[in-house]
Amino acid sequence: MEKKPLLLYLDIPFCPGRCAYCAKPALEPRADWREGYIEALGRELRAQKDSLPDYEVKAVWVGGGIPGHMADPQLGELLRELPRLLPWPLTPRSP
Ligand code: SF4
Repeated sequence: MEKKPLLLYLDIPFCPGRCAYCAKPALEPRADWREGYIEALGRELRAQKDSLPDYEVKAVWVGGGIPGHMADPQLGELLRELPRLLPWPLTPRSP
């Protein structure tokens, strides 16, 4: 049976400033908030690990916010762990 495509969006809702035109929820990039958020995101992904047997990951987007602003090792670790957490036939690559 062919697997269904799974397109994954990981929202990292932290911005160093607040743009006047933006209505998106965005948080101040406090270290403790970022750390707690990435921990919770990892817990959620691990909890979903076995609930997606009919799917395979076709693409992952990471947005927010400005995820690149974070440059947290914890976020990098979570992204490297993704292929083990999800039905992942892809070879991870950098842009
Ligand atoms: S999400 Fe983007 S547009 Fe909105 S406040 Fe953050 S940087 Fe600005």
